[in-house]
Amino acid sequence: MLLKTKGIPSGVNIPIVGRVTFNPENNAEILIVANAIPKYLERFRAILSTSVQSYPFDKPCVHSIPEIGHLSEGDIVVVNTDGVINTLYRINSNHNFLLFTERCNSNCLMCSQPPKNKDDTDYLFDVHSQSIPLIPKDCFELGITGGEPTLLGERFFKLLEQIQIELPNTEIHCLTNGRSFAWPALSEKLGAMSFSRLMLGIPLYSDFYIQHDYIVQAKGAFNQTVQGLYNLAKHNIRLEIRIVLHKQTIPRLLKLAKFIYKNLPFVEHVAFMGLEHQGYTPHNIEKLWIDPNDYGNELAEAITYLSDFGINTSLYNAQLCTTPQRIWQFTRKSISDWKNIFHAECDKCLMKQECGGFFASSKAKRSTAIKPFTANSLQ
Ligand code: SF4
Repeated sequence: MLLKTKGIPSGVNIPIVGRVTFNPENNAEILIVANAIPKYLERFRAILSTSVQSYPFDKPCVHSIPEIGHLSEGDIVVVNTDGVINTLYRINSNHNFLLFTERCNSNCLMCSQPPKNKDDTDYLFDVHSQSIPLIPKDCFELGITGGEPTLLGERFFKLLEQIQIELPNTEIHCLTNGRSFAWPALSEKLGAMSFSRLMLGIPLYSDFYIQHDYIVQAKGAFNQTVQGLYNLAKHNIRLEIRIVLHKQTIPRLLKLAKFIYKNLPFVEHVAFMGLEHQGYTPHNIEKLWIDPNDYGNELAEAITYLSDFGINTSLYNAQLCTTPQRIWQFTRKSISDWKNIFHAECDKCLMKQECGGFFASSKAKRSTAIKPFTANSLQ
């Protein structure tokens, strides 16, 4: 699915954030038109058009946009000065997230969105502080992601405060490596917000510090993350542990599950996550790839261990045909709709409705054991 398009800008001197509409009578900030020059344009901040013509009036405009069919009435976009139009919020999706920054202080072997070494924090803070008030108040769930969102510093808290005020009924899930919270002042500040709808999803890849630090390519990260988890727990922040499944995490998976139960029993949720063949992963594939069909026993042991001890546990990004049936109950349809696909053999599978399918990037690499369920194989 397209989340970005580009046309020829005219008079777009600063990034313009707004809801799009196809109807000039509607309440929105950005009007999408085809060819005709509409009347009553004054109240719109910008015009988007597939027409090759520019508009002969003083209004920011992007024309000659080749593809605009991915936008729906009420979607929130940012129109950039170079004519790029990024979708920030999709009205018809349950998988919306705000990218706070692409910078990061870790450099994980399997990062699906490798960090960029440019300071985008001013731009993204500005964009999100404009977009948050436009998000529908009945938005059920909203993600915050990066990079490492806490690298926004004080602005991280400002955006969280804005979300807390503007979207009081929305569940907020923030992905962070948790390292910043090793500094007590930050976790104390977050705790003082009493943001009960906020959960932090924090990765912990091993019970052994050297292995975790190797996976995230940052010395001292394990100690900082664990210290951060303790500091956050002290302030009653809701916590989730995330574990990506690959060659570096599988051998100690049960040990990690035991570590979590014994040392971090306060976490609300543990998510085991299938690998996404995206970002750094294709480059580190020799270090990372293990066929999901070959780690079923280790995974089932770790999941049942945590679940038996009362820790809420899930399995994300897994296909049922490569997952032991005894842990199917933990699988979730977790892949964001815009990158969730099924392959041809799935069309014949009787479990397709229940299965979470694949990342779009699985076209390049996936299990060799994908096999549709038939009436016989389900008996
Ligand atoms: S064949 Fe496809 S739909 Fe069926 S379980 Fe496997 S991945 Fe899922």
